[in-house]
Amino acid sequence: MLNKIHKDIFNDIDLHKIAHTKFIIDLKRLNPKLFKEPMNEIYNNLQIYGVDLTNAEINTILNYIDKDIDNDNRNLPTIIKQFKNFKELLSQRFNEAHSELCAPKDPRLKKWRERQIRRVKAHLGNEGKGLIHFTVSFELTSGCSVGCPFCAISSKKLDNVFDYSERNVALWKGVLNKCLEIIGGSAKYGVCYYGTEPFDNPNYEKFCSIYADILGHFPQTTSAVPMRDVNRTRTMLTLSREKNNFFFMNRFSILSNTIRDRVFNEFTPEELLFVGLLNRFDLQEEPKLIKAGRARSTQNQELISQNEGGTVSCLSGFLVNMAERTIRHITPCNANEKWPTGQWEIDRESFTDADDFGDAIQRLIDKNISDEAPRTKPLKFYPWLSYEELTEKTNGFGLRSKASGLMTFKNMTALSEIGEKITEGCHTPRQIAAILNEQYGYNPAYVYNTIDFLFNHGVIDEEPQN
Ligand code: SF4
Repeated sequence: MLNKIHKDIFNDIDLHKIAHTKFIIDLKRLNPKLFKEPMNEIYNNLQIYGVDLTNAEINTILNYIDKDIDNDNRNLPTIIKQFKNFKELLSQRFNEAHSELCAPKDPRLKKWRERQIRRVKAHLGNEGKGLIHFTVSFELTSGCSVGCPFCAISSKKLDNVFDYSERNVALWKGVLNKCLEIIGGSAKYGVCYYGTEPFDNPNYEKFCSIYADILGHFPQTTSAVPMRDVNRTRTMLTLSREKNNFFFMNRFSILSNTIRDRVFNEFTPEELLFVGLLNRFDLQEEPKLIKAGRARSTQNQELISQNEGGTVSCLSGFLVNMAERTIRHITPCNANEKWPTGQWEIDRESFTDADDFGDAIQRLIDKNISDEAPRTKPLKFYPWLSYEELTEKTNGFGLRSKASGLMTFKNMTALSEIGEKITEGCHTPRQIAAILNEQYGYNPAYVYNTIDFLFNHGVIDEEPQN
Protein backbone atom coordinates (compact mmCIF):
# COMPACT_ATOMS: atom_id res chain seq x y z
CA MET A 1 0.00 0.00 0.00
CA LEU A 2 2.73 2.44 0.94
CA ASN A 3 6.10 2.73 -0.70
CA LYS A 4 9.55 2.40 0.84
CA ILE A 5 10.13 6.12 1.23
CA HIS A 6 6.91 6.53 3.19
CA LYS A 7 7.97 3.69 5.49
CA ASP A 8 11.46 5.10 5.91
CA ILE A 9 9.96 8.24 7.39
CA PHE A 10 7.00 6.89 9.33
CA ASN A 11 6.54 3.43 10.80
CA ASP A 12 3.52 1.29 9.96
CA ILE A 13 1.63 2.19 13.11
CA ASP A 14 2.20 5.94 12.59
CA LEU A 15 1.07 5.73 8.97
CA HIS A 16 -2.01 3.75 9.92
CA LYS A 17 -3.00 6.40 12.48
CA ILE A 18 -2.20 9.27 10.11
CA ALA A 19 -4.30 7.73 7.32
CA HIS A 20 -7.30 7.22 9.61
CA THR A 21 -6.91 10.70 11.12
CA LYS A 22 -6.86 12.25 7.65
CA PHE A 23 -9.94 10.21 6.68
CA ILE A 24 -11.93 11.63 9.62
CA ILE A 25 -10.77 15.18 8.87
CA ASP A 26 -11.73 14.85 5.17
CA LEU A 27 -15.07 13.25 6.04
CA LYS A 28 -15.96 16.04 8.46
CA ARG A 29 -14.95 18.72 5.93
CA LEU A 30 -16.99 17.19 3.12
CA ASN A 31 -19.90 15.84 5.16
CA PRO A 32 -20.20 17.95 8.32
CA LYS A 33 -23.79 16.75 8.91
CA LEU A 34 -22.50 13.30 9.86
CA PHE A 35 -20.74 14.83 12.83
CA LYS A 36 -23.84 16.52 14.22
CA GLU A 37 -25.14 13.12 15.39
CA PRO A 38 -24.77 11.90 19.00
CA MET A 39 -21.24 10.60 19.67
CA ASN A 40 -22.28 6.93 19.67
CA GLU A 41 -23.71 7.36 16.18
CA ILE A 42 -20.50 9.05 15.05
CA TYR A 43 -18.36 6.16 16.38
CA ASN A 44 -20.66 3.67 14.61
CA ASN A 45 -20.60 5.53 11.32
CA LEU A 46 -16.83 5.84 11.38
CA GLN A 47 -16.53 2.13 12.08
CA ILE A 48 -18.77 1.39 9.09
CA TYR A 49 -16.45 3.53 6.96
CA GLY A 50 -13.54 1.39 8.19
CA VAL A 51 -11.97 3.84 10.61
CA ASP A 52 -9.81 1.85 12.97
CA LEU A 53 -9.16 4.16 15.90
CA THR A 54 -10.29 4.07 19.52
CA ASN A 55 -13.13 6.30 20.67
CA ALA A 56 -10.60 8.26 22.73
CA GLU A 57 -8.47 8.87 19.62
CA ILE A 58 -11.55 9.93 17.65
CA ASN A 59 -12.47 12.37 20.44
CA THR A 60 -8.95 13.84 20.36
CA ILE A 61 -9.10 14.32 16.57
CA LEU A 62 -12.54 15.95 16.76
CA ASN A 63 -11.31 18.25 19.54
CA TYR A 64 -8.45 19.48 17.39
CA ILE A 65 -10.16 19.41 14.02
CA ASP A 66 -10.97 23.12 13.87
CA LYS A 67 -7.82 24.29 15.62
CA ASP A 68 -4.85 25.80 13.90
CA ILE A 69 -2.43 22.95 14.59
CA ASP A 70 0.01 24.28 11.97
CA ASN A 71 0.90 27.18 14.24
CA ASP A 72 0.49 25.33 17.52
CA ASN A 73 3.84 24.41 19.08
CA ARG A 74 2.51 23.22 22.40
CA ASN A 75 2.60 19.59 23.44
CA LEU A 76 0.03 18.24 21.04
CA PRO A 77 -1.43 14.76 21.59
CA THR A 78 0.68 12.15 19.76
CA ILE A 79 -1.94 11.39 17.09
CA ILE A 80 -2.28 15.09 16.23
CA LYS A 81 1.48 15.65 16.30
CA GLN A 82 1.99 12.77 13.83
CA PHE A 83 -0.63 14.19 11.49
CA LYS A 84 1.00 17.61 11.75
CA ASN A 85 4.41 16.07 10.89
CA PHE A 86 2.85 14.40 7.87
CA LYS A 87 1.32 17.67 6.67
CA GLU A 88 4.63 19.46 7.15
CA LEU A 89 6.41 16.86 5.06
CA LEU A 90 3.87 17.27 2.26
CA SER A 91 4.22 21.01 2.36
CA GLN A 92 8.03 20.69 2.37
CA ARG A 93 7.79 18.61 -0.81
CA PHE A 94 5.42 21.16 -2.31
CA ASN A 95 7.88 23.94 -1.53
CA GLU A 96 10.70 21.92 -3.06
CA ALA A 97 8.69 21.60 -6.24
CA HIS A 98 8.41 25.42 -6.25
CA SER A 99 12.10 25.85 -5.82
CA GLU A 100 15.13 25.27 -8.02
CA LEU A 101 14.05 21.67 -8.62
CA CYS A 102 11.22 22.87 -10.80
CA ALA A 103 13.33 25.40 -12.71
CA PRO A 104 14.14 24.74 -16.37
CA LYS A 105 17.77 24.41 -17.35
CA ASP A 106 17.64 26.90 -20.26
CA PRO A 107 18.87 30.12 -18.58
CA ARG A 108 16.52 32.45 -20.48
CA LEU A 109 13.52 30.25 -19.77
CA LYS A 110 14.56 29.99 -16.13
CA LYS A 111 14.76 33.76 -15.73
CA TRP A 112 11.47 34.26 -17.59
CA ARG A 113 9.73 31.75 -15.30
CA GLU A 114 11.16 33.43 -12.19
CA ARG A 115 9.86 36.76 -13.48
CA GLN A 116 6.37 35.32 -13.99
CA ILE A 117 6.41 33.84 -10.48
CA ARG A 118 7.28 37.27 -9.04
CA ARG A 119 4.61 38.99 -11.16
CA VAL A 120 1.90 36.53 -10.18
CA LYS A 121 2.78 36.68 -6.48
CA ALA A 122 2.72 40.48 -6.59
CA HIS A 123 -0.56 40.64 -8.50
CA LEU A 124 -2.48 37.83 -6.80
CA GLY A 125 -0.95 37.94 -3.32
CA ASN A 126 -1.56 34.82 -1.24
CA GLU A 127 -3.58 33.20 -4.00
CA GLY A 128 -0.57 33.43 -6.31
CA LYS A 129 1.81 31.87 -3.81
CA GLY A 130 0.25 28.43 -4.15
CA LEU A 131 0.86 28.09 -7.90
CA ILE A 132 3.75 25.83 -8.92
CA HIS A 133 4.53 27.26 -12.37
CA PHE A 134 5.46 23.98 -14.08
CA THR A 135 7.56 24.54 -17.18
CA VAL A 136 5.79 21.93 -19.27
CA SER A 137 2.56 19.94 -19.05
CA PHE A 138 0.64 17.70 -21.40
CA GLU A 139 -2.89 17.00 -22.47
CA LEU A 140 -3.61 13.51 -23.77
CA THR A 141 -7.04 14.35 -25.18
CA SER A 142 -8.56 17.34 -26.85
CA GLY A 143 -11.42 18.64 -24.69
CA CYS A 144 -13.06 17.01 -21.72
CA SER A 145 -16.08 14.73 -21.27
CA VAL A 146 -17.06 15.99 -17.82
CA GLY A 147 -18.24 19.54 -18.59
CA CYS A 148 -18.07 20.98 -15.08
CA PRO A 149 -20.06 24.23 -14.87
CA PHE A 150 -17.22 25.82 -12.88
CA CYS A 151 -14.42 24.76 -15.26
CA ALA A 152 -11.85 27.55 -14.91
CA ILE A 153 -10.20 26.53 -18.17
CA SER A 154 -13.54 26.52 -20.08
CA SER A 155 -12.64 23.16 -21.53
CA LYS A 156 -14.46 22.33 -24.77
CA LYS A 157 -16.29 19.03 -25.33
CA LEU A 158 -14.09 15.97 -25.72
CA ASP A 159 -13.41 15.51 -29.43
CA ASN A 160 -10.08 13.74 -29.80
CA VAL A 161 -8.00 11.22 -27.89
CA PHE A 162 -4.27 10.58 -28.25
CA ASP A 163 -4.49 6.84 -28.79
CA TYR A 164 -1.90 4.28 -27.80
CA SER A 165 -0.73 3.37 -31.30
CA GLU A 166 2.85 2.35 -32.01
CA ARG A 167 3.42 5.66 -33.81
CA ASN A 168 1.99 7.72 -30.96
CA VAL A 169 4.00 5.87 -28.33
CA ALA A 170 7.16 6.61 -30.32
CA LEU A 171 6.11 10.27 -30.62
CA TRP A 172 5.38 10.45 -26.87
CA LYS A 173 8.79 9.03 -26.02
CA GLY A 174 10.47 11.40 -28.47
CA VAL A 175 8.64 14.44 -27.08
CA LEU A 176 9.52 13.53 -23.48
CA ASN A 177 13.17 13.05 -24.41
CA LYS A 178 13.19 16.46 -26.11
CA CYS A 179 11.74 17.98 -22.93
CA LEU A 180 14.55 16.35 -20.96
CA GLU A 181 17.06 17.78 -23.42
CA ILE A 182 15.69 21.35 -23.53
CA ILE A 183 13.99 21.82 -20.17
CA GLY A 184 16.05 19.36 -18.14
CA GLY A 185 15.14 17.09 -15.21
CA SER A 186 12.56 19.58 -13.91
CA ALA A 187 10.29 18.53 -16.79
CA LYS A 188 9.30 15.63 -14.54
CA TYR A 189 7.21 17.97 -12.36
CA GLY A 190 4.71 18.51 -15.17
CA VAL A 191 1.33 16.81 -15.32
CA CYS A 192 -0.53 14.95 -18.07
CA TYR A 193 -3.84 16.80 -17.82
CA TYR A 194 -4.79 20.46 -17.89
CA GLY A 195 -8.09 21.42 -19.51
CA THR A 196 -8.72 17.69 -19.72
CA GLU A 197 -9.92 14.79 -17.58
CA PRO A 198 -7.05 12.28 -17.27
CA PHE A 199 -9.30 9.20 -17.41
CA ASP A 200 -10.83 10.35 -20.72
CA ASN A 201 -7.75 8.81 -22.27
CA PRO A 202 -8.17 5.03 -21.85
CA ASN A 203 -4.37 4.67 -21.80
CA TYR A 204 -3.60 7.53 -19.44
CA GLU A 205 -1.84 5.22 -16.95
CA LYS A 206 0.30 3.69 -19.70
CA PHE A 207 1.39 7.10 -20.98
CA CYS A 208 2.15 8.14 -17.40
CA SER A 209 4.23 4.99 -16.88
CA ILE A 210 6.34 5.90 -19.93
CA TYR A 211 6.62 9.41 -18.50
CA ALA A 212 7.91 7.91 -15.24
CA ASP A 213 10.41 5.70 -17.10
CA ILE A 214 11.83 8.65 -19.05
CA LEU A 215 11.48 11.57 -16.65
CA GLY A 216 11.68 9.65 -13.37
CA HIS A 217 8.34 10.62 -11.87
CA PHE A 218 4.79 9.30 -12.29
CA PRO A 219 2.91 12.58 -12.76
CA GLN A 220 0.41 13.89 -10.27
CA THR A 221 -3.23 13.23 -11.22
CA THR A 222 -6.39 15.19 -10.51
CA SER A 223 -9.54 13.41 -11.63
CA ALA A 224 -13.14 14.59 -11.56
CA VAL A 225 -14.37 11.06 -12.26
CA PRO A 226 -12.63 8.85 -9.66
CA MET A 227 -15.68 6.55 -9.54
CA ARG A 228 -16.10 6.13 -13.32
CA ASP A 229 -13.93 3.01 -13.19
CA VAL A 230 -12.76 2.27 -9.68
CA ASN A 231 -10.25 -0.35 -10.84
CA ARG A 232 -8.53 2.20 -13.07
CA THR A 233 -8.46 4.73 -10.26
CA ARG A 234 -6.91 2.12 -7.94
CA THR A 235 -4.33 1.19 -10.56
CA MET A 236 -3.39 4.83 -11.02
CA LEU A 237 -3.00 5.31 -7.26
CA THR A 238 -0.88 2.16 -6.98
CA LEU A 239 1.37 3.14 -9.90
CA SER A 240 1.73 6.63 -8.49
CA ARG A 241 2.92 5.20 -5.15
CA GLU A 242 5.16 2.54 -6.63
CA LYS A 243 6.86 4.65 -9.27
CA ASN A 244 7.65 7.63 -7.06
CA ASN A 245 10.07 8.17 -4.27
CA PHE A 246 8.70 11.23 -2.63
CA PHE A 247 5.53 12.49 -1.03
CA PHE A 248 2.92 14.23 -3.10
CA MET A 249 -0.85 14.26 -3.39
CA ASN A 250 -3.09 13.09 -6.19
CA ARG A 251 -6.52 14.69 -6.10
CA PHE A 252 -10.15 13.76 -6.62
CA SER A 253 -12.59 16.54 -7.51
CA ILE A 254 -15.82 15.53 -5.79
CA LEU A 255 -18.70 16.71 -7.95
CA SER A 256 -21.71 15.58 -5.91
CA ASN A 257 -22.83 14.25 -2.52
CA THR A 258 -23.36 10.88 -4.14
CA ILE A 259 -19.81 10.69 -5.44
CA ARG A 260 -18.50 11.87 -2.08
CA ASP A 261 -20.33 9.02 -0.31
CA ARG A 262 -19.13 6.48 -2.88
CA VAL A 263 -15.51 7.61 -2.53
CA PHE A 264 -15.58 7.29 1.26
CA ASN A 265 -17.29 3.90 1.01
CA GLU A 266 -15.05 2.53 -1.71
CA PHE A 267 -11.55 3.63 -0.70
CA THR A 268 -9.79 2.78 2.52
CA PRO A 269 -8.13 5.46 4.66
CA GLU A 270 -4.74 4.10 3.50
CA GLU A 271 -5.76 4.45 -0.15
CA LEU A 272 -6.87 8.03 0.45
CA LEU A 273 -3.77 8.99 2.47
CA PHE A 274 -2.10 10.62 -0.55
CA VAL A 275 -5.31 11.87 -2.17
CA GLY A 276 -6.56 15.41 -1.68
CA LEU A 277 -10.37 15.50 -1.82
CA LEU A 278 -11.61 18.71 -3.39
CA ASN A 279 -15.09 19.95 -2.65
CA ARG A 280 -16.60 20.76 -6.05
CA PHE A 281 -20.24 20.10 -5.12
CA ASP A 282 -20.86 22.94 -2.72
CA LEU A 283 -19.59 25.99 -4.57
CA GLN A 284 -20.84 28.33 -1.85
CA GLU A 285 -18.19 26.77 0.35
CA GLU A 286 -15.46 27.26 -2.27
CA PRO A 287 -16.07 30.71 -3.78
CA LYS A 288 -12.42 30.96 -4.85
CA LEU A 289 -12.99 28.31 -7.48
CA ILE A 290 -15.48 29.99 -9.66
CA LYS A 291 -14.04 33.25 -10.75
CA ALA A 292 -12.42 32.11 -13.98
CA GLY A 293 -13.36 30.34 -17.16
CA ARG A 294 -16.86 28.93 -17.63
CA ALA A 295 -18.13 30.34 -14.37
CA ARG A 296 -17.45 33.88 -15.60
CA SER A 297 -19.87 33.58 -18.47
CA THR A 298 -23.37 32.41 -17.79
CA GLN A 299 -23.57 30.33 -14.67
CA ASN A 300 -23.03 31.15 -11.02
CA GLN A 301 -23.15 34.86 -11.77
CA GLU A 302 -24.20 35.64 -8.25
CA LEU A 303 -21.03 34.01 -6.96
CA ILE A 304 -18.57 35.72 -9.27
CA SER A 305 -16.49 38.34 -7.59
CA GLN A 306 -16.75 41.87 -8.88
CA ASN A 307 -12.98 41.94 -8.88
CA GLU A 308 -10.66 40.13 -11.22
CA GLY A 309 -11.10 36.47 -10.78
CA GLY A 310 -7.85 34.76 -9.76
CA THR A 311 -6.56 31.74 -11.60
CA VAL A 312 -6.14 27.98 -11.36
CA SER A 313 -3.45 28.01 -14.02
CA CYS A 314 -0.18 26.61 -12.67
CA LEU A 315 1.97 26.55 -15.77
CA SER A 316 4.55 29.12 -16.81
CA GLY A 317 5.83 27.46 -19.91
CA PHE A 318 4.53 25.07 -22.52
CA LEU A 319 1.20 23.30 -22.64
CA VAL A 320 1.53 20.46 -25.11
CA ASN A 321 -1.59 18.87 -26.54
CA MET A 322 -0.58 15.48 -27.89
CA ALA A 323 -3.92 14.83 -29.60
CA GLU A 324 -3.76 18.11 -31.55
CA ARG A 325 0.05 18.26 -31.69
CA THR A 326 0.09 21.85 -30.51
CA ILE A 327 2.18 23.77 -28.02
CA ARG A 328 0.78 26.81 -26.25
CA HIS A 329 3.16 29.13 -24.44
CA ILE A 330 1.21 30.30 -21.39
CA THR A 331 1.56 31.83 -17.94
CA PRO A 332 -1.01 32.55 -15.20
CA CYS A 333 -2.73 35.89 -14.71
CA ASN A 334 -5.77 37.19 -12.91
CA ALA A 335 -8.82 36.14 -14.92
CA ASN A 336 -10.48 39.13 -16.54
CA GLU A 337 -12.43 39.95 -19.68
CA LYS A 338 -9.38 39.74 -21.89
CA TRP A 339 -8.00 36.55 -20.28
CA PRO A 340 -11.13 34.82 -18.93
CA THR A 341 -9.35 31.56 -18.17
CA GLY A 342 -6.71 33.22 -16.02
CA GLN A 343 -3.73 32.74 -18.27
CA TRP A 344 -1.90 34.70 -20.92
CA GLU A 345 -1.35 32.90 -24.16
CA ILE A 346 1.90 34.33 -25.44
CA ASP A 347 2.23 32.24 -28.57
CA ARG A 348 1.48 28.84 -30.05
CA GLU A 349 3.13 26.38 -32.40
CA SER A 350 2.27 23.01 -33.87
CA PHE A 351 4.50 20.01 -34.50
CA THR A 352 4.54 16.79 -36.48
CA ASP A 353 7.28 14.69 -34.88
CA ALA A 354 9.73 14.80 -31.98
CA ASP A 355 12.43 16.78 -33.80
CA ASP A 356 9.84 19.23 -35.01
CA PHE A 357 8.57 19.49 -31.41
CA GLY A 358 12.08 20.35 -30.18
CA ASP A 359 12.48 22.97 -32.91
CA ALA A 360 9.08 24.48 -32.10
CA ILE A 361 9.92 24.81 -28.38
CA GLN A 362 13.24 26.38 -29.29
CA ARG A 363 11.46 28.81 -31.64
CA LEU A 364 9.04 29.83 -28.87
CA ILE A 365 11.97 30.49 -26.53
CA ASP A 366 13.95 32.45 -29.12
CA LYS A 367 10.96 34.46 -30.27
CA ASN A 368 9.29 35.38 -27.01
CA ILE A 369 11.72 35.08 -24.15
CA SER A 370 14.34 37.62 -23.20
CA ASP A 371 16.01 38.38 -19.92
CA GLU A 372 16.33 42.05 -20.75
CA ALA A 373 13.63 44.64 -21.33
CA PRO A 374 13.11 45.16 -25.08
CA ARG A 375 15.20 48.24 -25.87
CA THR A 376 12.84 49.82 -28.39
CA LYS A 377 9.44 49.37 -26.73
CA PRO A 378 8.01 52.00 -24.35
CA LEU A 379 8.12 50.80 -20.75
CA LYS A 380 5.33 51.04 -18.20
CA PHE A 381 4.60 49.44 -14.88
CA TYR A 382 1.66 47.03 -14.70
CA PRO A 383 -1.59 48.99 -14.30
CA TRP A 384 -2.34 47.13 -11.05
CA LEU A 385 0.75 48.68 -9.43
CA SER A 386 0.72 52.20 -8.04
CA TYR A 387 3.91 54.20 -7.89
CA GLU A 388 4.95 55.69 -4.53
CA GLU A 389 7.78 57.96 -3.63
CA LEU A 390 9.59 56.75 -0.55
CA THR A 391 9.50 58.98 2.52
CA GLU A 392 13.18 58.56 3.32
CA LYS A 393 15.58 60.30 0.95
CA THR A 394 16.99 57.21 -0.64
CA ASN A 395 17.58 56.49 -4.25
CA GLY A 396 14.50 54.49 -4.98
CA PHE A 397 10.72 54.19 -5.08
CA GLY A 398 7.90 51.88 -4.13
CA LEU A 399 5.25 50.00 -6.09
CA ARG A 400 2.08 49.00 -4.31
CA SER A 401 -0.16 46.11 -5.26
CA LYS A 402 -3.58 45.74 -3.63
CA ALA A 403 -3.01 42.04 -3.11
CA SER A 404 0.56 42.00 -1.87
CA GLY A 405 1.35 45.44 -0.50
CA LEU A 406 4.39 47.64 -1.04
CA MET A 407 7.54 46.54 -2.88
CA THR A 408 10.47 48.89 -2.50
CA PHE A 409 13.36 49.30 -4.90
CA LYS A 410 16.44 51.01 -3.51
CA ASN A 411 20.12 51.65 -3.94
CA MET A 412 20.68 51.08 -7.64
CA THR A 413 21.93 53.52 -10.22
CA ALA A 414 19.34 56.15 -11.19
CA LEU A 415 16.42 54.21 -9.67
CA SER A 416 14.28 57.25 -8.82
CA GLU A 417 14.81 58.86 -12.21
CA ILE A 418 14.16 55.60 -14.05
CA GLY A 419 11.04 54.94 -11.95
CA GLU A 420 9.66 58.36 -12.83
CA LYS A 421 10.35 57.90 -16.53
CA ILE A 422 8.65 54.50 -16.52
CA THR A 423 5.54 55.95 -14.87
CA GLU A 424 5.26 58.33 -17.82
CA GLY A 425 4.70 55.20 -19.91
CA CYS A 426 6.05 56.51 -23.20
CA HIS A 427 9.84 56.05 -23.09
CA THR A 428 11.81 53.11 -24.41
CA PRO A 429 14.90 51.92 -22.47
CA ARG A 430 17.05 53.54 -25.16
CA GLN A 431 15.29 56.87 -24.73
CA ILE A 432 15.53 56.67 -20.93
CA ALA A 433 19.25 55.86 -21.13
CA ALA A 434 19.82 58.80 -23.50
CA ILE A 435 17.76 61.27 -21.41
CA LEU A 436 19.44 60.29 -18.14
CA ASN A 437 22.87 60.44 -19.75
CA GLU A 438 22.21 63.90 -21.08
CA GLN A 439 20.52 65.29 -17.96
CA TYR A 440 22.57 63.64 -15.19
CA GLY A 441 25.53 62.00 -16.89
CA TYR A 442 24.47 58.44 -15.99
CA ASN A 443 26.34 55.73 -17.85
CA PRO A 444 23.76 54.06 -20.19
CA ALA A 445 25.12 50.58 -19.29
CA TYR A 446 24.17 51.14 -15.61
CA VAL A 447 20.78 52.53 -16.62
CA TYR A 448 20.07 49.41 -18.71
CA ASN A 449 21.22 47.28 -15.80
CA THR A 450 18.70 48.94 -13.45
CA ILE A 451 15.91 48.70 -16.04
CA ASP A 452 16.64 44.99 -16.53
CA PHE A 453 16.63 44.46 -12.78
CA LEU A 454 13.12 45.96 -12.61
CA PHE A 455 12.04 43.99 -15.67
CA ASN A 456 13.18 40.71 -14.14
CA HIS A 457 11.42 41.62 -10.94
CA GLY A 458 8.16 41.24 -12.85
CA VAL A 459 6.90 44.81 -12.46
CA ILE A 460 7.32 46.07 -16.03
CA ASP A 461 4.30 45.33 -18.20
CA GLU A 462 4.85 42.52 -20.71
CA GLU A 463 1.23 41.42 -21.08
CA PRO A 464 0.67 40.13 -24.64
CA GLN A 465 -1.21 42.72 -26.65
CA ASN A 466 -3.25 40.43 -28.91
S1 SF4 B 1 -12.77 21.17 -14.43
FE1 SF4 B 1 -11.53 19.49 -15.24
S2 SF4 B 1 -12.96 17.79 -15.37
FE2 SF4 B 1 -14.20 19.63 -15.17
S3 SF4 B 1 -14.67 20.25 -17.29
FE3 SF4 B 1 -12.81 21.35 -16.67
S4 SF4 B 1 -11.15 20.06 -17.37
FE4 SF4 B 1 -12.98 18.79 -17.38
